[in-house]
Amino acid sequence: MSCKIDYQARPDLLAGRVILVTGAGDGIGRAAALSYAHHGATVILLGRTINKLEAVYDAIEAAGGPQPAIFPLNFEGATLKDYHDMAETLDKEFGRLDGILHNASLLGRLTPFDQYNPELWEQVMQVNINGPIWMTQALLPLLKASDDASVVFTSSSVGRKGRAFWGAYAVSKAATENFSEMLADELENVSAIRVNTLNPGATRTQMRKTAYPAEDPQRLRTPDDIMPTYLWLMGPDSHGHSGERFDAQPPKA
Ligand code: NAP
Repeated sequence: MSCKIDYQARPDLLAGRVILVTGAGDGIGRAAALSYAHHGATVILLGRTINKLEAVYDAIEAAGGPQPAIFPLNFEGATLKDYHDMAETLDKEFGRLDGILHNASLLGRLTPFDQYNPELWEQVMQVNINGPIWMTQALLPLLKASDDASVVFTSSSVGRKGRAFWGAYAVSKAATENFSEMLADELENVSAIRVNTLNPGATRTQMRKTAYPAEDPQRLRTPDDIMPTYLWLMGPDSHGHSGERFDAQPPKA
């Protein structure tokens, strides 16, 4: 597991690339969408809250980035047909996909397992793993049409080692890591697609605040601070890396 927090991306790192970011309206996904566009990518902003996506769209345009696209989708209710319709739309519009940042996630509730609500469990698994998996399957032909595609799944430290009370969130992140390795292994030598997982580490967002309400957010890194690894993994400098687990911040001493 390695971390590229000191990586310095050149300004045109992602020029000409078409990159889909899920959960692009807030937190880390918002920062990644802005940062990818700042480095030249055409970013497809996917999320469930349209006004947040529109605000990111406007910020990219105001900064002079390539015109982005908005793709409203809620993983909770999305069906296989939605993912295939999406692939068709992106095919017509762009003809290929050079990257996906799977970032959208639900925390669910931190609670002892014997009190975990089964409906909430299903909801978290749907948003964090099942939806992203079937969306990826539908988008594989578009990724295969790219010369150099990078698929990045977002993990968490509780996905690497289970922790009390984290329930479906931790289980979904463990599944994310395994799925990513499985897909990387399948695609190795038969495609130009690399697949990796990235653990952002403790980052100042709404999700973190919900999970750790007593923590002082000022002591945490911001989404912008952790962008170097997000850029490295999405761009050509991470070529040759697939099936690996990365950290966006160095582990605590
Ligand atoms: P966040 O601020 O809560 O943002 C999550 C994003 O996911 C939001 O844009 C949200 O949309 C979107 N989303 C949630 N449910 C969705 C659904 N059903 N369909 C579509 N989009 C949905 O969280 P964050 O901290 O930036 O987290 C980003 C990623 O990093 C997640 O995968 C999280 O598990 C991971 N992570 C974060 C930390 C941390 O310390 N922050 C640590 C480890 C891992 P709305 O804005 O519309 O709600």
